[in-house]
Amino acid sequence: MGSVTHRITATREDGEVFQVSYGYGRYRRRYVTCDHCEWREQITWGGAAAKALDHLAGTHGASGAQNMSADRATMNQTLVIMIVCFAVAALLLVIAVS
Ligand SMILES: [Zn+2]
Repeated sequence: MGSVTHRITATREDGEVFQVSYGYGRYRRRYVTCDHCEWREQITWGGAAAKALDHLAGTHGASGAQNMSADRATMNQTLVIMIVCFAVAALLLVIAVS
């Protein structure tokens, strides 16, 4: 599993919270992965939250308090990687020009 960008959660009747992670796997493919069982599905376009919530409701019986939130730690990490890539590209450009 690569970087997780979002976490989708739903609450079961007894109050237990179930979570599905959404993010990028290898080759920048998008995946939703269940934190509680082996379920994993590749997302080709849209519908990640709907598929995740379907799984949480259907398999784990969790259909209350549905929520999707961005993973801030990963967002910050992605930003740092982007800045580093940009700096390396700029450096290579300077070397190529001089
Ligand atoms: Zn599951």
